[in-house]
Amino acid sequence: MPKYIVTIGLEVHAQLTTQSKMFCACPVEFGAEPNTLTCPTCLGLPGALPVLNEGAIEKTILTGMMLGCVTPPIVKWDRKNYFYPDMPKNYQITQFDLPLCVGGGVPLYDLAYPKDAQKSIASPGKVVKLTRIHLEEDVAKSTHHDKFTTIDFNRAGTPLMEIVSDPDIDSAEEAFAYLTSLRQILIYGGVSDADMEKGNLRCDVNISLRPEGQTELGAKIELKNLNSMSAVRRAIKYETERQTEALNRGEKLIQSTRRWDDDRGETTLMRTKEDAHDYRYLPDPDLIPLRTESLVARMRPQVPELPHEKRDRFESDYGCSAYDAGVLASEKALAAYYEAAVAADTKVPAKKLANWVINDLLGILKDSEDGITACPVKPEALSALVAFVEDGKISNNQAKEVFAEMFANGGSAGEIIKAKGFEQVSDTGALEAIVEQILAANPDKVAEVKGGNDKAMNWFTGQAMKASQGKANPKIVTDIVRKKVLG
Ligand code: ZN
Ligand code: MN
Repeated sequence: MPKYIVTIGLEVHAQLTTQSKMFCACPVEFGAEPNTLTCPTCLGLPGALPVLNEGAIEKTILTGMMLGCVTPPIVKWDRKNYFYPDMPKNYQITQFDLPLCVGGGVPLYDLAYPKDAQKSIASPGKVVKLTRIHLEEDVAKSTHHDKFTTIDFNRAGTPLMEIVSDPDIDSAEEAFAYLTSLRQILIYGGVSDADMEKGNLRCDVNISLRPEGQTELGAKIELKNLNSMSAVRRAIKYETERQTEALNRGEKLIQSTRRWDDDRGETTLMRTKEDAHDYRYLPDPDLIPLRTESLVARMRPQVPELPHEKRDRFESDYGCSAYDAGVLASEKALAAYYEAAVAADTKVPAKKLANWVINDLLGILKDSEDGITACPVKPEALSALVAFVEDGKISNNQAKEVFAEMFANGGSAGEIIKAKGFEQVSDTGALEAIVEQILAANPDKVAEVKGGNDKAMNWFTGQAMKASQGKANPKIVTDIVRKKVLG
């Protein structure tokens, strides 16, 4: 049997975070009573005229800038004709030959891959090329019941940004990394909430197989209805196997669209695919072409620090390891939390705070409902807790207990340390008295320490800790023992 090369392209629809719809002033809102956020324009009534939403155009141009795309000097809007109840005017306003952004790419970095695939990345540092990003209107939402279908027009006319990649993705793992990285960048730019579960990021996958040695791509098969990252990965794996088996049986694959069934873990045929010319794209006579020069100039300074730039800065400025910097920069809110903690007290080492955020904070958040933005321990409070450890006032283990308490019931580190009686005795006079007693009672051990036995030294420290009921500062105790025995 021949070996097959898999080629994948992704089309991602991202709902923009605008307050109003693409071509009318109706508000964009999730979860409102059905059909309450509508007007003649977004209902598609005859004669209603569209008016461009400038904010949506700005956000799309900004997205293009974050992804290294170029915005053509003139863009325009086109009608994509089709018949479906979710689009009663029988065309969708979208962009055909002059989209807002062309070219660019999405960087795939190691931590964006699925955890189990991070050790075996085929093309480290790969950047997946983009074809284009265009802006269009969303359609209404149909819900199919047993014997009838209901339609909610609240979603109709919501600004949708469609990000189309080149057929430049080689595996299910790369597709996963692509979506992870793209999501992060959209969130960094504040252009979309990019939450797949909520449907504001929707993904279609184009996948084709061709025998090794053949340059022409195989039949393009489109997968629809992928609404989670894991669904994308599983659907690509399933479809790769299905197509491989079909080709091995001598079947000829034809261009088609298939639906992914997440529960059954398989794809089924929806329709054999129409080509672009079937949609009879034509320029929308209600919307004139747009010059982009001044918009581009306006958006250029708005480009935020991007995830990979933040990663590099966390490594160079804060001494984070590459892994820690990657985790911290992976989410905008997490990065902001970390930086607020670092800024709260510059005497607390940033590297130590990174450990606390990644190991303790993320660990505890994983088991709770709260995300980082609703975290009950504020960055300043975490910094104050770590400062107690750094000053030798409490041990690391005690700090972990205090942290758990802060997370569960609130309160400051200082209050909890006091309430738990964790304050270490650093009063040298009191500690000297304790040590002297122990030394006097154990002359044989004193001799061992003098003979250079480190274990005996530790034994004294342990005894002094015990005598102080765990409150002695171990570092100070060791210093006293050393001074008293060795002089
Ligand atoms: Zn409307
Ligand atoms: Mn589209």
